[in-house]
Amino acid sequence: MSKALDAAALRLQFPILNREVNGKPLVYLDHAASSQKPIAVIEAQREYLMHYHANVHRGVHALSQQATDAFENARTIVQHHIGAEESCETIWTGGATDAINLVAQSWGRAHIGAGDTILITKMEHHANIVPWQMLAEEVGAHVEAVEVLENGALDEEDLAAKLAKGPRLFAFVHVSNTLGTVNDAKALTEQAHAAGATVLIDGCQAVPHMDVDVQDVGCDFYIFSGHKVYGPTGIGVLYGKRMLLEAMRPWRGGGEMIDAVSIENGTTYAGLPHKFEAGTPHISGAIALGVALNWLKGLGAGAVMDHEMMLAAQARKGLSSIEGMRFIGTTSEAAGVVSFVIEGTHPYDIGTLLDSQGVAVRTGHHCTQPLMERYGIPGTVRASFGVYNTLQEVDTFVAATVKAVRMLRG
Ligand code: PMP
Repeated sequence: MSKALDAAALRLQFPILNREVNGKPLVYLDHAASSQKPIAVIEAQREYLMHYHANVHRGVHALSQQATDAFENARTIVQHHIGAEESCETIWTGGATDAINLVAQSWGRAHIGAGDTILITKMEHHANIVPWQMLAEEVGAHVEAVEVLENGALDEEDLAAKLAKGPRLFAFVHVSNTLGTVNDAKALTEQAHAAGATVLIDGCQAVPHMDVDVQDVGCDFYIFSGHKVYGPTGIGVLYGKRMLLEAMRPWRGGGEMIDAVSIENGTTYAGLPHKFEAGTPHISGAIALGVALNWLKGLGAGAVMDHEMMLAAQARKGLSSIEGMRFIGTTSEAAGVVSFVIEGTHPYDIGTLLDSQGVAVRTGHHCTQPLMERYGIPGTVRASFGVYNTLQEVDTFVAATVKAVRMLRG
């Protein structure tokens, strides 16, 4: 069993948590959108910029070699963190959105054609909807979505029926950013593979909260963003099985991704992973993401989940006393997400009043409009917890919500 988290001690590593908002101590509960950064991550970027900034892969000089070593070492950290077989299966991207677009435009264009179906779910983030719609529009395919049950679980009957129609791809979210639903990635992958579909998993909300082993899950592609996992913005990861990635055409052309370029004879491409990494990458971002993942691993994934579940359970318990409370997504607290609407109030008004009390939550559709449509609501208030949140902060949040509701109801 892993050691329980000491949130109070962890907070000392996050300078931003000392600040006040609207004259009140900041209570930051917006981790599903982005997490704050520990000093180790901030320092890793600073160290690179102060002492060994140079472009990677291009120079024989010392700085370039040092930068390249750190950059490639970070790739190996990611590989081990998600259990990929080889480091070349880990591609740096600008983020999760960028990674999904890469797969849509490279693998998708080669494997999805007129009349084909791309299967997603109704709980996808727009990042795992729109790239597929754009591809479908271009090639004459169509996008179908598995229904979501009232409690926020995937509708298994609907899934089985839609898989039986033989989609080319099943792209689904590991953990929903709006509902907190944790999908059984391994079982869904097996089911989709049995139906002949390739599998892409959006792991943005899973990697910050739980151990992920892509080989155990068995998926073909797995993606996540750095900034939700205590790392920098502008960096993300595409994992793909080597055989698939090798067969894929590069998506973006330019420097870094070539073998040889000739006007007369055309261009040959570099091998993996570089053929998907055209141009100068986000070097400090990659290095610091490696540091963030090691830092997170040091806390113990079991301890992280236990802590966040405890916070989410306490929040749910406290909020339940509010008249007219409706939780959206009630299957799991494992990802530390509590989403809700309150009768007679608008999520935006609750969010604004919480902000005036120093509490940062997200309100709106959370880039999951089909889900809002499913529940017939304009948006939710979403509190999402991180490793340094405390039970005291949960109580502050609940009290602030009670106060906001009282004010709005007059
Ligand atoms: N998928 C999920 C489930 C997310 O929560 C998010 C970010 N809210 C994304 C994809 C997109 O991530 P990014 O904006 O970092 O590309």
